[in-house]
Amino acid sequence: MAETSRLPTPVAESWDWQRFGACRDMASEAFFSPEHERGRVRRRRIERAKAVCRSCPVLLDCRRYALRAEEQYGVWGGLDEGERNRLIATRRQTPAA
Ligand code: SF4
Repeated sequence: MAETSRLPTPVAESWDWQRFGACRDMASEAFFSPEHERGRVRRRRIERAKAVCRSCPVLLDCRRYALRAEEQYGVWGGLDEGERNRLIATRRQTPAA
């Protein structure tokens, strides 16, 4: 059976923040890397996505979700994949209090 404990519960309230995201009417390509995107083009797209996130009223909700769900792709809550992966790795190495 798949391990699902790290996924958010399917409760409407836990997803409500998405209705207020600054990206809600934007194309997903602004936040997710198209296939074969590399180098400067990729970095610039990610920076543009992060700029949208910086003005987003639900940035912290979005970031919390993405870290908890360990989203593998895209910019969420102002963090790209590499930034989230480093935070997740640090969290795993930190003993629970
Ligand atoms: S923080 Fe960024 S990715 Fe998350 S809802 Fe806001 S604009 Fe969208």
